[in-house]
Amino acid sequence: MTAPFLSLAQIRNRLILTARWVLRDHRPGPDGRCPVCRTAGCPEATAARDVLRAATELRLWSTTAQPTAPDRHDPGGPRRSG
Ligand SMILES: [Zn+2]
Repeated sequence: MTAPFLSLAQIRNRLILTARWVLRDHRPGPDGRCPVCRTAGCPEATAARDVLRAATELRLWSTTAQPTAPDRHDPGGPRRSG
């Protein structure tokens, strides 16, 4: 995957994937402490959660079809101007 540039949807997908990996690795154990950082309130899990929330809740990313979004027909490919 060496595209010259990524679409917003691709960037969003990568953000979500990476955040999920981090969250999986830094999931707190039964005592509430991160098994990797060995601290409570792991900053990396917090950052990953922020990224996930931003990537999934923000409506900036309107390139994927959302059931509640109004119909919008984007051509999907790179747009040439000029
Ligand atoms: Zn951690």
